Amino acid sequence: MKFHVISHTHWDREWHQTYQQYRVRLVRFMDELIELLQSTPAYSSFMLDGQTIVLEDYLEVKPDKREAISKLVQEGRLLIGPWYIQPDEFIPSGESLIRNLLIGQQISNEYGTAMQIGYLPDSFGQAAQIPQVLNGFGIKSALFWRGITEEETEKTDFYWNGPDGSKVLTTHLPLGYGNARMLSSNLEENVKVIEENINELEKMTTSPNMLLMCGFDQRSAIKELPEIMDELNRHYSGQGADYSFEISKLMDYFDNVRNEADKLESLSGEFRKGKNMRVHVSIASTRLDLKKVNFEVQNLYEKYLEPINSMSMLLGNSYDNKIINQGWKYTLQNHAHDSICNVCKDETHREMEMRYQFAEQIAETVQSEALTELINQVKFDYDKGIPLLVFNTLGHMRDNIVETTIQLKSEHFIITDTEGNVIPYQVVETKQENLNDKRIEIGVKNEDQFVWTIKIMFFAEIEGLGYKTYYIKENETHSNKESELVFQEGVFINEYFEAKIESNGSLTVKDYSTDTVYDHLNVLEESGNAGDEYDFSPPREDVIITTKNSSPDISVVHNGPLFAEVKIVHTIDVPVNTDVNKRSKEQEIMTIETFVKVNRHEDRIDIKTVIHNTVKNHRIRALFNTGIKSKTHVADQQFGTICRENYLPQVEYWERDHWEEKYFPIYPQQKFVDVSDDKRGISILNKGLPQYEILNGEEPVIALTLLCGTDYMGKQDLVYRPGRRSGLHVETPDSSLLGKHEMEYSIIPHKGNEMDAYVAMKSNEYITPAFAVQVNSHSADGVPRHSDQNSFFQLYEENMAISAVKKSEDDENVIVRIYNATNQEMSSAKASFDTQFFNKVELVDLNEKPIVNTNERMSISKGIIEIKNITSNEILNFKLTR
Ligand SMILES: [Zn+2]
Repeated sequence: MKFHVISHTHWDREWHQTYQQYRVRLVRFMDELIELLQSTPAYSSFMLDGQTIVLEDYLEVKPDKREAISKLVQEGRLLIGPWYIQPDEFIPSGESLIRNLLIGQQISNEYGTAMQIGYLPDSFGQAAQIPQVLNGFGIKSALFWRGITEEETEKTDFYWNGPDGSKVLTTHLPLGYGNARMLSSNLEENVKVIEENINELEKMTTSPNMLLMCGFDQRSAIKELPEIMDELNRHYSGQGADYSFEISKLMDYFDNVRNEADKLESLSGEFRKGKNMRVHVSIASTRLDLKKVNFEVQNLYEKYLEPINSMSMLLGNSYDNKIINQGWKYTLQNHAHDSICNVCKDETHREMEMRYQFAEQIAETVQSEALTELINQVKFDYDKGIPLLVFNTLGHMRDNIVETTIQLKSEHFIITDTEGNVIPYQVVETKQENLNDKRIEIGVKNEDQFVWTIKIMFFAEIEGLGYKTYYIKENETHSNKESELVFQEGVFINEYFEAKIESNGSLTVKDYSTDTVYDHLNVLEESGNAGDEYDFSPPREDVIITTKNSSPDISVVHNGPLFAEVKIVHTIDVPVNTDVNKRSKEQEIMTIETFVKVNRHEDRIDIKTVIHNTVKNHRIRALFNTGIKSKTHVADQQFGTICRENYLPQVEYWERDHWEEKYFPIYPQQKFVDVSDDKRGISILNKGLPQYEILNGEEPVIALTLLCGTDYMGKQDLVYRPGRRSGLHVETPDSSLLGKHEMEYSIIPHKGNEMDAYVAMKSNEYITPAFAVQVNSHSADGVPRHSDQNSFFQLYEENMAISAVKKSEDDENVIVRIYNATNQEMSSAKASFDTQFFNKVELVDLNEKPIVNTNERMSISKGIIEIKNITSNEILNFKLTR
């Protein structure tokens, strides 16, 4: 048996200490490590936790150590990368996981090369798309600890397959990433450590190789490790055992295992079982305010900033990857597993807020500059009126409602398209403003300048990725062809459904496409939470309050021919607190406002819920009774959907078998969850609400978590997580989420399953409304050359989606990343590109490097791309060369 001793550290960049508090230790740790490796040639290698951010954090303080680090990396003694930061795998978007590796590789390349192993020692469960993301960077091996059990495999090594057919040789660490952390100068103790590992792991190995991970959280290198190896070798050879010990590298371990890999099992999918170690299955509900900001910032970069800046670049303007990547870095820093799972102290979470603000400030400034430059390149026809530029960044032809605010001299106006057709609109809000109030007065008073600030909604139809100009003509009278109101006698009516608001505030929806009636939609449920930042857990005796018998105030906010909105206000008495045993007798009034909005030409029912939270340690969810018989459901994960069980048998035996935590159908999600029986179905879309639970397995009720408050980082002996505490017993008042919180979600009833109904595309339309901007004037010199409408790239297959549109990292071309948003194969898909802007299209990998031999899959003719044999959930990257 060859024992591969991996000397490493696990560096949580922030957690129960802040980044700067840990950084003080990081600097000392790195100083000592460099000194140790330089002075001890026998110390053959040290692994720097798979994340390159520690180098940035260190070198900002000690830039003079850069050369020493480069030398050690190039000698193969300091192993860095592949990630920028050790991520959580479920909350970040798929695009974020890619950028994490992309930036991690870039930083690694500054020093040498990245360790080509998907090292994920501490992430709270493993997401199904990790193999595909790793393979996209040429990474063929992965290592993780949490989430897998003997129910999946009794071996440590296996092939982990992605849904698209990608695969990584994977090893999991049944005893964690510190199974040899106790090695010391004491031989007797060391022999105990080795024997314990042999006892536990020998039966699980698939080759005569065993991993001994010598390192732990924020821990320095063990200086005596070379001598410890010698001593162990001497000891066991003296006993005649065929054991060898050496300071090794993960790559060497994988090379050895790969030699005997023909007998390895293949597994696929996600691993989220907390049997032998905790995965914190309900972790996605903590600090939903921060989770929402995370969603917004990701979407700002992915679906607004980068595509709009790319369009501007195609019209001849600048695109600076470096500043945009700096914004990405602030976002990714928040994707560290402890950070985005929000199991930190309040100070740490406040610093996350600040990083999101940095990322937003960069994005808004760069986007505003890109827009100004783009506008300067467009030939508008001012005779038609004031231009109103509308962007489509999703790639499909879209015909959606656009909400925008315009400023006009007249309250009366019409909107036309480029052909002069009058476009119906509905006014949401009008106010008169004096622009002088917004200017600085120097010495004398400025002249008053009154304008109408008008928020409007109208339907815009835009071909693929691109923009289109509408024109506003002032002083003309507008009348909508359709005058029928969307909300009539307590019921929203459009061409897709009728949605009635019941007296308890819930919705009853009749879907015309299937003649199905869904009732009890959006019933609110409030219950106790005795859990902590890591897990929701009910008190031993819970009191569950719902709005089923509530009598809310219901009022119409907007009602017109294009859309209507109704406000429902629940005032509920709820217990002021909850401990591990029960909810308190004392009660407090809590107000929940729900705004329900329906657009005439869209098949969604949009809901915004505003919770004025006055109490601690409780959870609020929105329940959706599907009434559909189905044993499984589908959820949106990174790059498409995943099918999951409604009922998990482990619910019956986890406690008996002493699992670390309860395993039940509470799941993470990206943009939607869908229940269908293939004839009819219902989808619940969300804007940054990453957790749902399936109740009532056979006829599922979807429970969407809206708010989950807790006042401690870690507590012990929870009903759902018995035994020791996770984290520290630190008070986290911010995690109680007192105050006002808004959340948005939407219902789509549909025919067939989620693929027949193009729910993936609709969820993108929901979370990424078309963006419109009023053009007041050109500011630049020179003559604008480009048309007032352009479609640079278009997707024709509704179940394909765009993940990214960006400038390539190494040259001035455009990367368009698309993916199969379903978990089914697709025989072919078409897309088109504008040959005025691009003259070549090639397939590249996630690292933006060309893939050879793609001729059989991809054909291109006259600006039409056809891709064949698309596997389920497959990501495809085009490089469009100018
Ligand atoms: Zn960690």
